[in-house]
Amino acid sequence: METLQIEGFAKINLGLDVVRRLENGYHEVKMVMQTVGISDTITLKKIPEGICFFSESGEIPCDDTNLAYKAARLFLEALREREDTSCPNKDTSENVGGIEISLEKRIPVAAGMAGGSTDAAAVLRGMNELFQAGFTTEELQKIGLKIGADVPYCIMGGIALAEGIGEKLTSLKKTKDMPLLVVKPDIFVSTKEVYQSLHLDENTNHPDIDGMVKAIEKGDAGADDIIPYMGNVLQNVTEKMHPIVRQIIDRMEAQGAKKAMMSGSGPSVFGIFETGEDAERAKESFADYRQVFVTHLV
Ligand code: ATP
Repeated sequence: METLQIEGFAKINLGLDVVRRLENGYHEVKMVMQTVGISDTITLKKIPEGICFFSESGEIPCDDTNLAYKAARLFLEALREREDTSCPNKDTSENVGGIEISLEKRIPVAAGMAGGSTDAAAVLRGMNELFQAGFTTEELQKIGLKIGADVPYCIMGGIALAEGIGEKLTSLKKTKDMPLLVVKPDIFVSTKEVYQSLHLDENTNHPDIDGMVKAIEKGDAGADDIIPYMGNVLQNVTEKMHPIVRQIIDRMEAQGAKKAMMSGSGPSVFGIFETGEDAERAKESFADYRQVFVTHLV
């Protein structure tokens, strides 16, 4: 096998809490992550050496700072390291091969949907298969964590509780599917700035993540079981900087969403609808937005 095509799916946060700020500047979080059906397509092709990256998206870097590129570099390094240790007498300069990556971007960029992390995760999973490297999920997650805190989750996907800086993962029971509408306004939100502007004190309204986990772990949870626990501690911060986020949430709920909320540090907003038809109808009322998706849980 010389080429492989792989889908990398976006995530939403059904719940996002920040527990505390850590000395190293990171934040301890407690989040319920959920994969959704909006995806990027990544085509991987083995080449004799080096890394080539292509994307027609004008919104992401097409150089070695792209997270997909970084993932490929780290993967090849890990492969080289393993070959060196398994066969110490081998010529260490020996080439393990290279990779060409084409990325078709559909996940909104800088949106709170882990688009870059998901691309990195897909490259790691895809290269593991293409090179028949046999790294375990845990080994891939360890490589992924060097790229970003969300990458280990993106490697596993599905529904999970993420703690620590986002890397301590517990897989949760699959819920019932839920029709979703996702709207991404054309504004730029800096994740760093949002976290820096978050001031945790006794007035902070923390979502009940433990309550949500309990509700999910009962099994076969539906929207009504989860909605009472949904919340995102970053939403107030982003809304203050960008009132459009609140406007979208209110508009989505006026259009019939059972609950609408911001994902990650924003600015994407998702709404849970009773039926796919309801979500489609609501989508029509967001015709003034460029990035609007009807989707579902994966
Ligand atoms: P998160 O939810 O993990 O905070 P996000 O959805 O807010 O992530 P991304 O779409 O991952 O944000 O983009 C964050 C930054 O990373 C952007 O400024 C973008 O230029 C850069 N980036 C690098 N590689 C990629 C990639 N493959 N896809 C998207 N963005 C990338």
